[in-house]
Amino acid sequence: MNQRLQGIGMTSQRTRERLVMRLRESGIKSELVLNAIKSTPRHIFVDEALATRAYEDTALPIGHGQTISQPHTVARMTEALLAANIPPKKVLEVGTGSGYQTAILSQLVEQVFSVERIQALQLRARARLREMRVSNVKFKHDNGSMGWLENAPYDCIIVTAAPVQVPDELLMQLAIGGRMVIPAGDTGQQVLRVFDRDIDCFHESQLDDVQFVPLLDGVSQ
Ligand code: SAH
Repeated sequence: MNQRLQGIGMTSQRTRERLVMRLRESGIKSELVLNAIKSTPRHIFVDEALATRAYEDTALPIGHGQTISQPHTVARMTEALLAANIPPKKVLEVGTGSGYQTAILSQLVEQVFSVERIQALQLRARARLREMRVSNVKFKHDNGSMGWLENAPYDCIIVTAAPVQVPDELLMQLAIGGRMVIPAGDTGQQVLRVFDRDIDCFHESQLDDVQFVPLLDGVSQ
């Protein structure tokens, strides 16, 4: 790994390992997920001025009124995806943001399709994943509420911004046996919801209360 990716002091491997320890204590069990977090330099996904805070278990601003999700939430959602009824090979992510969740997913599944409505964020995320030599992610600048129909169906769908109501278009792009993890609800009352697609119906369950930025319509530069 190059020096910038490796980090030093508050961004070093030891600091990443302390974060993993805290995640383990907070109930994250999947060794696959914990390992991915251990080997992903979260400090390159935030502004340099915030890099020393990158391994705190907290959401941080990434510009354009958006945030990089809290590591615990990233771990929780990824763990839920890996527990789908079919092994997640092809995954759709709605809300690329910083690209951190994308980078974690890219280590655990074969192919990630990631949609972001703010082009400036998408370009930065793309550059970071290139720097990490990640090559199994396809990006799209678009309104992800409509999914990404050309590549459907997906084994899993992860949404990292919260709609008030779960978009049917996304549910319809799930494979049979597939799973979608999505925060939904009004600001201040969001819940992480899990949908498993069966042959002729969906089974729904709920994880934690969460706080995400809203899923918005349209696109922005
Ligand atoms: N997983 C990201 C989360 C970023 S915040 C990370 O950890 O960095 C959520 C992101 O969803 C924001 O970048 C926001 O611009 C994006 N977003 C909101 N509504 C969207 C939509 N309809 N389609 C695609 N992206 C959307």
